[in-house]
Amino acid sequence: MRITIHRGTHEIGGNCIEITAGNSRIILDVGMPLFKSEGEPYDTANLKRKSKQELLDMGILPKIPGLFVEGQQPDAILLSHAHEDHTGLIRHSEAEIPVYASKGTSKMMKAGEKFALQPTLPRSRYHEINSDEPVQIGDFKLTAYSVDHSIFGAQAFLVEAEGKTVLYSGDLRMHGRKPGMHRSLIEKVSIKKLDVLLMEGTHIGHTEYKGSNEYELEEEITGLIKSAPGLILASFSPQHVDRLVGFLRATKKSGKVFVADAYTAFVMRLIATETSIPKPESTEWVKVFFPKFFLESYERKGMKTFFTFMNPASIGVEEIRSDPSKYVMLFRPSMLDSDFNGKLPDGSRCLYSRWSGYLEQKEWQNTKAKLDQVNGDLIEVHTSGHIYADDIKTLVKAIKAKTVIPIHTFEAERFANVIPNVKLLNDGESFPLA
Ligand SMILES: [Zn+2]
Repeated sequence: MRITIHRGTHEIGGNCIEITAGNSRIILDVGMPLFKSEGEPYDTANLKRKSKQELLDMGILPKIPGLFVEGQQPDAILLSHAHEDHTGLIRHSEAEIPVYASKGTSKMMKAGEKFALQPTLPRSRYHEINSDEPVQIGDFKLTAYSVDHSIFGAQAFLVEAEGKTVLYSGDLRMHGRKPGMHRSLIEKVSIKKLDVLLMEGTHIGHTEYKGSNEYELEEEITGLIKSAPGLILASFSPQHVDRLVGFLRATKKSGKVFVADAYTAFVMRLIATETSIPKPESTEWVKVFFPKFFLESYERKGMKTFFTFMNPASIGVEEIRSDPSKYVMLFRPSMLDSDFNGKLPDGSRCLYSRWSGYLEQKEWQNTKAKLDQVNGDLIEVHTSGHIYADDIKTLVKAIKAKTVIPIHTFEAERFANVIPNVKLLNDGESFPLA
């Protein structure tokens, strides 16, 4: 068996790993890079408009035979979760290659495609991979395990062939709503005598940093909702279902009404059967808001029929303005002008639950200014989707792999400070398992 990391050894995002054994090849993730080699962020919207040839010329698409350039095709692509730094290049891959992902990932990709210009997972190529159910792909035995991350449906992959075993962590954490997942992962893979662990290290360099867990965050959100004088504007990714659950629970505990936008309502409906998420159309304390931008485009996307049955639960800005302190409303800066005509209700409070870097962007600076005008405030309530440095140490120790290869990190060298058996690779470099 041979592992090649085409990208992700010295950056956060853009993961792409190739594993070969016998006559078989598989690809783990086909991520869009987030950062240039100098650490400056890419304009990903711009990258999405580029042609395949342009992306090849720029070095964004690794020249992997049969995947992005001519050659024998790999047996499969596996997607660990629906974040674009793991899926973003799928549309440039050869159209005959089967794609394996969890049902949750396929649902998040469907929502992301319809509402957030995210990549499509073509139905004809899709193979569902359920956690804990091994599948045979060529010479590989593949087992997916559910992991806790800031998006629904995330998985780690165990790859077995030629008597060797490799675990790819994908993105994960130990401070989410489902700590049972990492306990179960440890239990199932520690007995496998892993040869290699490909381990995400987003926070490996932040040894002092440890934020709240999702339960503590829910408490914090509840307090901030209860103490707010006016409308609550909630900003978070609806694909981060655990955060959605936190906001829903906090809203209910505060005796308020949750106003989902169409995107969030769509996600709630998609997963209502497999989670305890309330159905928006039949829950008294949940309403659905259709932003103007969405109303203008949903007909052309064929979404009108889907939402008809939610119409009885719909709510408009006027109703919200008549009693703003009653509502916790999903918010995007684009709603400011088109839906609120540039003026928010007095004393509005925005609970910002995303990466703080986005607050530098013009749309958020503008939102802050509009909140100031009405004596409102913006409060950050967030916790990372990635495992803390201390927890990396705990997890790696418990999994007991012979070799640990860092991925999804700017500070791969730091692994060696806390873990004894680290092997650093560079992008494009292979690690043979004899
Ligand atoms: Zn991720």
